[in-house]
Amino acid sequence: MQISSFQPPVRTFMGPGPADVHPRVSAALARPTVGHLDPAFGAMMEELKCLLRYAFRTDNPLTMPVSAPGSAGMETCFVNLVEPGDKVVVCINGVFGGRMRENVRRCGGEAVVVEDEWGRAVDPQKLEDTLKAHADARLVAFVHAETSTGACSDVKTLTEIAHRHDCLTIVDAVTALGGSPLEVDAWGIDAIYAGSQKCLSCTPGLAPISVSERALTKVTGRSTPVQSWFLDLNLVLGYWQGPTGGGKRAYHHTAPVNALYGLHEALVMLTEEGLEAAWERHYRHHLALRAGLETLGLELVVPEAERLPQLNVVAVPGGVDEAAVRSRLLSTYGLEIGAGLGTFAGKVWRIGLMGYSSRAENILLCLAALGSVLNDAGQQADTGAALTAAQAMLSQ
Ligand SMILES: *Cc1c(COP(=O)(O)O)cnc(C)c1O
Repeated sequence: MQISSFQPPVRTFMGPGPADVHPRVSAALARPTVGHLDPAFGAMMEELKCLLRYAFRTDNPLTMPVSAPGSAGMETCFVNLVEPGDKVVVCINGVFGGRMRENVRRCGGEAVVVEDEWGRAVDPQKLEDTLKAHADARLVAFVHAETSTGACSDVKTLTEIAHRHDCLTIVDAVTALGGSPLEVDAWGIDAIYAGSQKCLSCTPGLAPISVSERALTKVTGRSTPVQSWFLDLNLVLGYWQGPTGGGKRAYHHTAPVNALYGLHEALVMLTEEGLEAAWERHYRHHLALRAGLETLGLELVVPEAERLPQLNVVAVPGGVDEAAVRSRLLSTYGLEIGAGLGTFAGKVWRIGLMGYSSRAENILLCLAALGSVLNDAGQQADTGAALTAAQAMLSQ
């Protein structure tokens, strides 16, 4: 068998992630590999922690990338903060909240679920009522940007409620970080995790996390050891804290050196653009895409006040084969959009505008391609009008 180099096709990513990787990030990935204990690498790690504090808007010393994808960021928060027997309130309004519940169970905790409809934000009143009924809960977990439905929850209010009931919070910001306003310190979030491949325009495989001093006290004061050796923050810190943490950088695992160059570059780009400017860009582009999608006759499923700008979920029109449309978009236009998950499977498309994917040319490509494919599927979609509507928003 003759196997030669893998040459991937070039795609445009407008799904739930990954997002388009910025060329500067790709270039950074190709720089020479250094040893993970090399002093030059240590200096970059320190910068990376600073850059992540900027992105999360926090002064938490424990702010670093976990060497694994967003799901490992989730798992890091749960395995460190949940001990067997702990009661944890988990808000579920989509797929990722469901995974949080599964994490609690696997840590031996008891998950008390606050359930909300798919496509809606978490209802703060339901959280309040649940915490009143479960005064012994000490942890609340919820998703900021629910990528499976396109709903954005009010992290500030949910965190306030949790704190009033003497609970720490775990927040999933995988799709939120860099795309939606997020204030870790001002909102008092205790443990938060994100992903490199969504609004940060980096390749998949890294999970930035930030943990407050209060939450860290709970981790270091556990009565049982963290059941995961790899994700045990007590051990990981020996490597990531290094000299600034008063210690020597000790070998824990071999860091994914080049992947971290990529994240460093992505975050440098975020500081150049400015975090607030990035939030604003995601919102402005959402308005343009939305104007075009509505002109094509598509309906957004999330109520306006609860919509995520970086993930637009539209209902598949009746009589249209949703998978056939996605496959045409991919084969003819190299454009990837997302299918529905769980309850939404077969019923929606998820159109992402995350990070480097959130730019004018992608919006126009998506509307032109989708309009054309919908017409071929027998829909009356006015592609020209959709492009005009989007362009009108883009030039505002
Ligand atoms: C993508 C995503 C994850 C999982 O991240 P992976 O990098 O795929 O492991 C978790 N939560 C949310 C909200 C996500 O969008």
